[in-house]
Order: sequence, then C-alpha cells, then structure tokens
Amino acid sequence: MIIDSAAPPPPVAILDLPPDAALETLAAWAARHGEPPFRARQLFGRLWQRPVASLLDVTEFPRTLREAAARDFPLTTLELATRQRSTDGTEKFLFRLHDGQHIETVAIPDGRRLTLCISSQAGCALRCAFCATGVMGFQRNLSPGEIAGQVRALRLLSPPLVATNIVFMGMGEPLMNWRAVAPALSLLNDPRALGIGARHITISTVGILPGIVALAERPEQFRLAISIHAPTDALRQELMPVNTKYPLAEVAAAAKAFDRRVTFEYVMLGGVNDQPVQAAALADLARECRAFVNLIPLHPGGSMGFTPSPAPVLARFAEALRARGVETAIRRSRGLDIAAACGQLRTERLGRRLPVATEAHAHLDVAG
Ligand code: SAH
Repeated sequence: MIIDSAAPPPPVAILDLPPDAALETLAAWAARHGEPPFRARQLFGRLWQRPVASLLDVTEFPRTLREAAARDFPLTTLELATRQRSTDGTEKFLFRLHDGQHIETVAIPDGRRLTLCISSQAGCALRCAFCATGVMGFQRNLSPGEIAGQVRALRLLSPPLVATNIVFMGMGEPLMNWRAVAPALSLLNDPRALGIGARHITISTVGILPGIVALAERPEQFRLAISIHAPTDALRQELMPVNTKYPLAEVAAAAKAFDRRVTFEYVMLGGVNDQPVQAAALADLARECRAFVNLIPLHPGGSMGFTPSPAPVLARFAEALRARGVETAIRRSRGLDIAAACGQLRTERLGRRLPVATEAHAHLDVAG
C-alpha cells in the first residue's frame, strides 16, 4: 500500500467523541489549517451548545474553513420521522438513524423543567413482560453521538426544545451499552457540551451489576434508578427474565453499595404485584437499601395482557410503603393519547397494533 502523506486524514465521527477527545481532534485540525486554537472551541460549541445541522452553517467561519469542517467532520444527524404532541404538552419524537433503525425520544414539560426521555439502544434484548420495546427484540446499540444527539436534535428544532433533565427511560438498557453511554454522559453533562447538571441526569436500569459499578466509579453525581417491579425472585423472574442473571439480593446489594441515593421503580400491575403482602416486602427491601420508591402506573399501550392497578389500590400501596418509613412517589400520567411509553411509537409504525387508553397512565414523568 502506498501511503500518501499529503492525503487528508479520513473523516471523523466527531459527535461520537467525548468533550476532551473532540476538542483535541478539533485543535489538531485547526492547527493543520493554520488557524488559531480558539477555532476548535468555536466549532465544538456549534456541535452541542448552539448546534448547527451542518457545519456549512458555522457562519463565524470563513467559507473555505466551513467547507473544510463539513468535509472533515460529516455530521450524522438524526432524521425526524414523526412528531406527536399530547394534549398535556408531552411530545414524542421518532427518529430515523442512518441505517434505517428507528428510536424514540419523549419531551415532558413541567413548569420550567423539560425532561427528555432518551433511548440508549434500538430495541432491547431484555423482554420484560409488560414492555413494548421488549416485544421488538434487540436491534443494535446506539453510538454516543446518537444518544446525546437526541438532545442535540431537539435543540435544532425551531423553536428549539432545550432539555433541563434527562432520563434514560426510552428504548433500551443503558447499562448494556455502557461503552457508548459513558461518553454520552460526558457530552450531556460537560458545560462545554450540553451542560446538563449530573443530578438532573437519571440512568434507569434493570440492575446490570457491572454497569452499576461502572456508574458508581464516575465522579459526577448522576442518579441511578433501578427497575425492581417485584419484591420476590419468583415474581420478578416472571416479569423480568434478566432476574435469573441478576437476582434481587444482588441488585439490592449493588443499590446499597452505590454511594448516592437510589430510586426503585415499581410498575403497578393490577392483581400481579400490587397486593399488601408485596407492599410489605418491597418496603423491607427499600428500607434495607435506603431507596426512594417511584410507583409507576402501567401504561396500558405496552401492557400485553396486564391491566393497570386501580387508583385506590395504587394509593393504598403507596400508603403501606410510607407507613413503613419509605419515601414514595406516584408518578403522574403523561402522554397517554400519544402512546408515550417505551417502544410504543416505533411499534405502531412497524404495524403492530397496540391498544392505547386515553385516561389511564404513562410512565415517563420523573421527579427530581
Ligand atoms: N431498560 C431500562 C430503561 C428503559 S425502561 C429499565 O428497564 O429500567 C424505563 C422504565 O419504564 C422501566 O422502569 C420500565 O420497566 C418501565 N416500563 C416499560 N414499559 C412500561 C409500561 N408499559 N408501563 C409503565 N412502565 C413501563
């Protein structure tokens, strides 16, 4: 092979690099073009902070430099396929990726807050019994730029939607894609990139133990939510096949070892996990782990034979937890008319018809 030393370096997927690496790459690029170092910071700012769809739009650069940037750093932008707005203001976005995969992002306004529920994988391998994403199976991991890119894509809308809070509660299991989620967290949090405070970023997991350890090793105060959904191994195994690999006792031990307060998520399935005896067992587990409990009304759109717990049952369950000294919240219903639960929009698009109730509950509104 003949190596031509004058040939330009191959294009770099700059949106996939965490801030330090991206800035280094851009600084080297600026130097190669005989430009001062501040050009690197300028260009980086136009990827995330005040994003442009194409680097040809970086108008503060001379035209030839813009063209060089666009050539050397082709941006793979998420293509908006569908946008739906709920009567309660919740918006759901379906994005098409470069290879034809689809992922979902949900924007949930709440006063001055705008929470984005983002996806970390196309599909999911875990097949939780009540989840619409589980039905479609695993397609592929998202790249760091596709994960943080969901926040970028909403900033590119006019008018822009600027997220204040992030929850990894869209499609996929974030801790089974740690390789991409780790740099994505840096992009979300770094003030030079998206600048969202670590305490406003929640990673939700079924309890992938090595991932929890990796998250705990991060110096930033990211929040951890664990999908518990059942207080015994027998029931949890039925609802969440992953429990055979990571049983409750080990997940609880990981929650205890985590140095920050953990949230337990518990989806309320009528007649399945919403009885007083289960409230008592969940209370013991939560107390042992000093966890906060978030009760999630089942979103019936993805329910596959389950029904939501009736409101009085839900209220009694919450009371039973509180009576045992467990801090408990009932998540509010959002986005029902647009099927704003995990995997539902994509599932609809692919032709699998799921019932959508109009007045029951969604699972996407998150406290904190
Ligand atoms: N894989 C991660 C994150 C994605 S799911 C996890 O499981 O935690 C985010 C949350 O939505 C999880 O707690 C999941 O159990 C819950 N969920 C999935 N389908 C739901 C539905 N139909 N109704 C209510 N919550 C649901």
